[in-house]
Amino acid sequence: MPPKVVTTHTALRAELGGASPGFVATMGGLHEGHASLIRRSAAENATTVVSIFVNPTQFSNPWDLAVYPRQLEADLDIAGAAGADMVYAPDRDEIYPSGFASSIDPGPLARSWEGGARPGHFQAVATVVAILLNSVLPKRAYFGEKDFQQLLVIRRMAKDLRIPVEIVGCPTVRDADGLALSSRNARLSPAERARARAIPKALFRMREMVEQGIDSSIETLSEVLPMLPPSKDFHVDYFAMVDPVELEPVVQAVPGTRAIVAVEVGSTRLIDNIELVPMNTESR
Ligand code: AMP
Repeated sequence: MPPKVVTTHTALRAELGGASPGFVATMGGLHEGHASLIRRSAAENATTVVSIFVNPTQFSNPWDLAVYPRQLEADLDIAGAAGADMVYAPDRDEIYPSGFASSIDPGPLARSWEGGARPGHFQAVATVVAILLNSVLPKRAYFGEKDFQQLLVIRRMAKDLRIPVEIVGCPTVRDADGLALSSRNARLSPAERARARAIPKALFRMREMVEQGIDSSIETLSEVLPMLPPSKDFHVDYFAMVDPVELEPVVQAVPGTRAIVAVEVGSTRLIDNIELVPMNTESR
C-alpha cells in the first residue's frame, strides 16, 4: 500500500489520532540506508511515519541546498515498500511560519567535528528534529549511525528537554564497495567515486589493526592517513579516534571507541565512522 501523504501538522495529527508511531526523519533522496530505518520502525511499531523535509536552515552552503536531491514520487515508492504508513512532507512555511524565532543549542557536542566545519548546523538539526518530534509524537525515532554525531546530538537534546521518545541508533548501510550510502553520493563523478572508496578502506584497516592489538591512535592513524593522500579535489578534514559519548579524541581504543572521518571529495563532503571495538553489551 502506498503511504498516505500529509503536508500539514494539523492533517498529521488528525490522521494519527492518539497513536504513538515509530518515526524516521529524512531529507528525501531515499536510499537503502533510509529504507533500513523504515523497515526497523515498521517491525517494531504498529504505525510508521516518515518525514521528508529538506531543512534549509541546516545548510551552510547554498549550492549544497540547491542541488540536494528532490524526488518525492520515488521517495514515496521506497518509503511504502519499506513499510511506511504515512509520509509527512511539509513545506518550509509549515515548519517555519512567519515570526518563527526559536532555536535549540545542543551544547559542546554541536561544536566539534561536523559542528566545527559547519557552524550552526547541529543547532538547526536539533531545532527541526524537535519540531518534527513534537508534531509526530512518536514512541520511538530511528536515526542512522552513519551520522554518528547527529545521533548523539539528537539523543542529548531529547534527554535534556525530556522529550518522551526513545532514540534508536541503526547501523550504517554500505554499498558493495564499502562506501556508506548517502544522498550526496549521486553527485560524485566516476573518478571521485573511485577515490571515495579509500574512506571505508581506511576505516576498516584501522579496525583491523585494533583487532590485531595495535590500538593506539598514533600508530593506527599514521598507517591509515596515507591511504587518503590529499590532492586538489580530495582533502581529509578530520580523521580521529574518539570516545562514543562526548566525541573527545582518545589515545587508545577501548570498547565503544569510534573512528570518525570527513573528506571533501571535489565539492562533496562525505562523512563516515565505525566502531573500532565492540561495546560491552552490559554497558550499552
Ligand atoms: P538524511 O536524509 O541524510 O538526513 O538521513 C535521514 C536518516 O537516515 C538519518 O538518521 C541518517 O543518519 C540515516 N541514514 C543516512 N544514510 C544512512 C546509511 N547509509 N545507513 C544508515 N542510515 C543512514
